[in-house]
Amino acid sequence: MPREYPLEKTRNIGIIAHIDAGKTTVSERILFYTGVSHKIGEVHEGEAIMDWMVQERERGITITSAVTTCYWIPGIRERLVPQAREKSKEYRINLIDTPGHIDFTAEVQRSLRVLDGAVVVFDGVAGVEPQSETVWRQANNYGVPHIFFINKMDRMGASFKGSLESIFKKLTHNAVAIQIPIGLEANFKGVIDLIDQKALYFEGDYGERVVEKEIPDELKEEAKEYREKMLEKIVAEDEKLLEKYLEKKENCPGGDISPEEIREVLRQAVLQSRLVPVLCGAALQNKGVQPLLDAVCYYLPSPLDLPPVKGTDPQTNEEIIRKVGDDEPFAALVFKVATDPFVGSLNYFRVYAGHLKKGDTVLNSTTGEKNRIGRLLQMHANSRQEIEEVFCGDIAATVSLKGAGTGHTLCDISQPILLEKPTFPEPVISIRINPETKADQEKMAHALKKLAEEDPTFRVKEDLETGETVISGMGELHLDVLTDRLRREFKVNAATGRPQVAYKETIIKECEAEGKYIRQSGGRGQYGHVYLRLTPRQRGSGFEFVDKIKGGAIPQEFIPAIKKGVIEAMERGVLAGYPLVDMEVTLFDGTFHEVDSSDIAFKIAAVQAVQEAAKKAGLILLEPIMKIEVVMPVEFFGDVIGDLNRRRGMIEETKDRGDLKVVEGKVPLAEMFGYATALRSLTQGRGTFTMEFCNYEKVPENIAKEIVEGKRR
Ligand code: GDP
Repeated sequence: MPREYPLEKTRNIGIIAHIDAGKTTVSERILFYTGVSHKIGEVHEGEAIMDWMVQERERGITITSAVTTCYWIPGIRERLVPQAREKSKEYRINLIDTPGHIDFTAEVQRSLRVLDGAVVVFDGVAGVEPQSETVWRQANNYGVPHIFFINKMDRMGASFKGSLESIFKKLTHNAVAIQIPIGLEANFKGVIDLIDQKALYFEGDYGERVVEKEIPDELKEEAKEYREKMLEKIVAEDEKLLEKYLEKKENCPGGDISPEEIREVLRQAVLQSRLVPVLCGAALQNKGVQPLLDAVCYYLPSPLDLPPVKGTDPQTNEEIIRKVGDDEPFAALVFKVATDPFVGSLNYFRVYAGHLKKGDTVLNSTTGEKNRIGRLLQMHANSRQEIEEVFCGDIAATVSLKGAGTGHTLCDISQPILLEKPTFPEPVISIRINPETKADQEKMAHALKKLAEEDPTFRVKEDLETGETVISGMGELHLDVLTDRLRREFKVNAATGRPQVAYKETIIKECEAEGKYIRQSGGRGQYGHVYLRLTPRQRGSGFEFVDKIKGGAIPQEFIPAIKKGVIEAMERGVLAGYPLVDMEVTLFDGTFHEVDSSDIAFKIAAVQAVQEAAKKAGLILLEPIMKIEVVMPVEFFGDVIGDLNRRRGMIEETKDRGDLKVVEGKVPLAEMFGYATALRSLTQGRGTFTMEFCNYEKVPENIAKEIVEGKRR
């Protein structure tokens, strides 16, 4: 069966935003105008289609990155309902849902890995908020071309100009407004398209009819100014266009440049991440969403615009390049595993090269296992459609692929390739979790394993001293959602402890030590003897094991056991039971015994050597530092600052936003528990804040002492 939609008309996009900027509302409108959904589900009524997990409905946030396919024809002025559909003109848009809450950065990162372009949504009142900055930076790091959409033009205090300025100031000077709003706040009526030089209004019960009119007189001057600024940025991207522009500048600037020419040059600039078009609207008021869909088709990349995907040969580690195309050997990345109550385990994957038919067998080159693809599904939030075949650039799901986890590569059996895995941040917070009965205990182990498979930032560990289970994640909300799922989905009754900071230990200077485990009293003895050197590494750079054994001082067969011992000792920690991180461990000498040496003896020796050396090397505790932004009416400013200082906060910037004060800074996570309640009572419920992980830093000595002595947890 040939593909129905040409690759150049495929868009894999995500909508990324600060929580509450309106991502869900925008997605909902997109699904409505593209005819996927039949009515508008309001987020606050808990009906949104994209947010389909129970917890999400209750909390009004989006957690899982569901993917939904829809179709659009740029320039269409009606809803794309079945009778209006003309397949030959349609673009196929795979909308990958990304979460707004920073606790779920793993979701954002894994979706960024598989999407080709993004729409970044801003709140037109707040402008660029810290979390939009973070996700934008991530998108930039992944080289994802994007469009900005300034939403909520209808809200009190909305400012297009102010939002645009905050984009220039905080994000990029490459932003270029290609629309301006008609009116603001309660008077917001529609948008002016600066390329076509038309005013667009949105009529019908749900704004489903786009009506084009002349630009209103009172906005002509402003539109002209913005259009000139726009043209200057765009023509600078193309010599021919620049010449044409300059020739006529005097009497009619840009007068004879066609909208098509502008769009083409702008498209190329967006694809190379040289320009970012800025649009605006009010999704809740059904205004501005269709032109946004047009812009997705006009400016965001198709899979063909991407560089060929790189991977390595799993055997030789050599680099392999796969071209984009249906006839190339199959290569796909599993970017999400979700437990579905109806079909079991769902594996979402993105095809980078080749195609795959139902019934084909693929190689999971990460595990080395071969799997037959029993079913192929096209996902639409929580409903699904069975399909026969997937092609290059598609996103689809398959069911119960044994052992396939997030980040695994699926490929052609005869042409193995390993694609690059997404990387995820380390968890910063943990809680103890105790099952109520023996039956719960068994269910819990199984359930936690499942949840950890789905979510790479969720970790499960046993406390070696108490035997309790400890789970860690990216924030209180993250763990809340997971324990909630444990109760509801897996029916596990368990009590949870108080959230605790995931401290880490590290060394401050290089040190060597010997580890010896020798037992020789009758019968077969034990003999393991190693010399290790610990060297500090840059913060966040992790652990490396270096084997410098020469002349067979220790036979090669024992090296893996020594490495295991090192890892075990590091996980256990030395100072206060927190994992040791960021160091290089070099095995540089040792001895062995022909008969008595064993894996276990070398492992124990390695544990001892790490503990010895770490103590000598001087240990410090590290704690997660959070970046926060607090917004409050000015009369509470002093109290909020005083409170942040008591929490060991470092204020970095304070500024005004309308009548409000905004404070930005960094605070240790340990001091931030219960901050939501504290802020509420400090500000009579009028203050709000956002917080996200920033980095690990040294815990001050007096506090570290209390933690080590168990006086503070
Ligand atoms: P998300 O957290 O980014 O998914 O944001 P939502 O789509 O859930 O929107 C957050 C809140 O803002 C909801 O109460 C929406 O009704 C509201 N909202 C979304 N878009 C607009 C808009 O264009 N104008 C106004 N005034 N409110 C909006």
